[in-house]
Amino acid sequence: MDAHRRPARQTKFIFFTGGVSSSLGKGLTASSLGRLLKSRELKVTMCKLDPYINVDPGTMNPFEHGEVFVTEDGGETDLDLGHYERFIDENLHVGSNATTGRIYSSVIAKERRGDYLGKTVQVIPHVTDEIKNHIRKLGVDEVDVVIVEIGGTVGDIEIVPFLEAIRQFRRDVGRENVAYVHLTLVPYLGPSGEQKTKPTQHSVTELRSRGIQPDVIVCRSDRLISDDLKSKISLQCDVPIEAVVSAVDADSIYEIPLVLHEEGLDRYLLRLLRFEEADHPIDLRRWERLVGQVDAAVRPVRIGIIGKYVDLPDAYLSVVEALRHAGFHHGARIEIEWVQAATVPDLLERDGLRSFDGLVIPGGFGERGVEGKIAAARHARLNELPLLGLCLGLQVMVIEVARSLAGLDGANSREFDPTTLHPVIDLMEDQNGVVDKGGTMRLGSYSAQLVPGSQVALAYATEVVSERHRHRYEVNPRYRSKLEDAGLSCSGQSPDGRLVEFIELPGHPYWIGTQAHPEFTSRPDRPHPLFRELIGAALVRAEGRDPRLIDIGAIG
Ligand code: GLN
Repeated sequence: MDAHRRPARQTKFIFFTGGVSSSLGKGLTASSLGRLLKSRELKVTMCKLDPYINVDPGTMNPFEHGEVFVTEDGGETDLDLGHYERFIDENLHVGSNATTGRIYSSVIAKERRGDYLGKTVQVIPHVTDEIKNHIRKLGVDEVDVVIVEIGGTVGDIEIVPFLEAIRQFRRDVGRENVAYVHLTLVPYLGPSGEQKTKPTQHSVTELRSRGIQPDVIVCRSDRLISDDLKSKISLQCDVPIEAVVSAVDADSIYEIPLVLHEEGLDRYLLRLLRFEEADHPIDLRRWERLVGQVDAAVRPVRIGIIGKYVDLPDAYLSVVEALRHAGFHHGARIEIEWVQAATVPDLLERDGLRSFDGLVIPGGFGERGVEGKIAAARHARLNELPLLGLCLGLQVMVIEVARSLAGLDGANSREFDPTTLHPVIDLMEDQNGVVDKGGTMRLGSYSAQLVPGSQVALAYATEVVSERHRHRYEVNPRYRSKLEDAGLSCSGQSPDGRLVEFIELPGHPYWIGTQAHPEFTSRPDRPHPLFRELIGAALVRAEGRDPRLIDIGAIG
């Protein structure tokens, strides 16, 4: 054996479970830990295991489940993956999210192929083995730490096979290579003026009943957990006092890593997992700079998001974060106003969009509210109001130009009007002239060629870009020259020239649409260029400067 070869690195695994209640911010806590470990020069990846039965969230209603986050390789995943990517600044992949449905699908496929050699296929060991294999595969490419978040809470029926799998996992890979972190709620009861630890005790008891003793307990609370309370939890739950971490509500989600670091979470886990602390000193300067920027973001800007799922803002989580990132860059405080698309015509009659400094028309499916979005695109076009259209947003902007400037009365997307005379947005024919009836989506990253000198190219400061997609319909190539003659500039297209990827309106301060979803790749300290320039243009308007004087690319 080569004496100089480094021994293979042992990947460590941190499992996050949650108790007491959902929506405690398990994803954000796990992401924040990921950021801290990455700031210690460790290679980190993350994964979410969701106990629900859908194979992936792609078919789930955004009203119920929130945004579907799209990975570079086309995975339709849980919105927590967006937090993971934004915090650890790594691109994740399809395998970074797995559900009960996906695990069972592969177990059942193996059973049908005869892989189990006639055995009775059972939850233990076959389903649990499948879960463990999934987790093990994440520990490739010299990854130092895999953080795995288990969705749901420990009392759920569906979570049982996942808890059993992660319990066995420690036995399989060695005690010193696995840590269990449990997130609970420590509520403050107003009438008695006390913080209560009982829910935490119950939740840890539930976890123990599955054979898992947590190593660390992270307590979510609206106020700091005192040392007395920590020692009570330590005693009740049998974890050292320094392993009881207080995660108090933060002003901004981007402060959470600093809060957890103050509490010693990363240092404790480092020791538990037998990393030499001296080899991994922490460097949080970049993150502290970001938090400084967040605090300094005070110039108010009002952005209207014209959407369909506005009652559940989580449906547009990455859009909101991307707007905020752009705000941090400009020192701007983004005030988001949710506008139900169907109400736009009424609002316009009452001059109701007047107070906005910029608009976003985000992605969506189905006809509801589309005419409102088209009206909003028209209003923005006529009033020099900055507008960014994302995916469906680009499509409604194209419809607006077709109807108002190209004289194509009744132009529409075939998604909303299958019999329209002018399907300016349509499903594409493949090379054999066959129209895809909608079975397949364009998913994941695709590259585009930008027109030199266009607003989009200036914003990106490059002419070849790659962005994530999730849609079926496209700008109909048969109408492209009519639209361009009417003044629309198709400022980015697929490398083969067939698909329109970006549009803009020369002379308008900012009226830009993209067929992609740039919101997924914006990072807190690296705002996406299209959002950055949107907020730049919106600030000019908010502060009463003359929009005609903006030179895009020079803003900010
Ligand atoms: N419904 C449109 C399509 O399928 C837009 C999709 C989206 O906005 N993600 O093309």
